[in-house]
Amino acid sequence: MSPAAQSLQYPSSRSAVPFEPIHVLSSPVHDVETYLNARYRQVFQTLGVEAPATGLKIAPLLDEREAQDFLAGLRAGLFSIDDRGYAQSELLPASPAGQDRQKIFMMFWHTDAEKRVLFREGVCQLAAASALVLEYGWPRDQVRLEPNKADLGGYAYGVDLIVPDRPGGRGVIFGEVKASASALATLMSEIAACGAQGEHDKSTCGRSQHPKAAVCLAKRPDFFWAVCPGTRKAFQISFNDSAMAFVETDDIPKFGAV
Ligand SMILES: [Zn+2]
Repeated sequence: MSPAAQSLQYPSSRSAVPFEPIHVLSSPVHDVETYLNARYRQVFQTLGVEAPATGLKIAPLLDEREAQDFLAGLRAGLFSIDDRGYAQSELLPASPAGQDRQKIFMMFWHTDAEKRVLFREGVCQLAAASALVLEYGWPRDQVRLEPNKADLGGYAYGVDLIVPDRPGGRGVIFGEVKASASALATLMSEIAACGAQGEHDKSTCGRSQHPKAAVCLAKRPDFFWAVCPGTRKAFQISFNDSAMAFVETDDIPKFGAV
């Protein structure tokens, strides 16, 4: 472990040691890279397997604001990455009965026995969720990452994050995170087309992003937040009979503004 990595002691789970300040000040991007690399190596150590010498590849590179929000969320205890590589967070659905950890959000995807790749989108998701709480002021219990059946019924996991007006209720903000600007552009063009078409079945649609439009049509959120590293776009959604339209707006609302 390098001296820089040794000075970075982050909690590995919610119940672990409190966050300690970073002693080697550099930049948020560098600090998040260091943290992710340390967690990545820990996963191999936990498994008793030697980590690949190439280290962790982070692509696309971390965005400055994304890194700032990720660090702020980490410091506020909104999430952590445990020794097996799973994100642990009160913003995720509760652990299954009898289990003390969440296994819904793996940060280092297994490609084969000795290789793992970063769930790049996950970094951006954790940063965006942290911003909803720390920057936009939404209460922690109103922000949900990976909303499940309890949150969205038959539309479980239809979007990456939600701010509902009450548990199981209508949406205030629905958010979807992509790892790249091109994937984000595809998302928005497809859900706009699905929205304009109105209610229709997935089997007749053919667009890969149809489920994201379907959950919006069903739960009628006021705002849609489309996020990728370096870009956050806010849209106000207007509904007309069974159809909906996305109109880009300055930003999503802060808590108390709607
Ligand atoms: Zn569709």
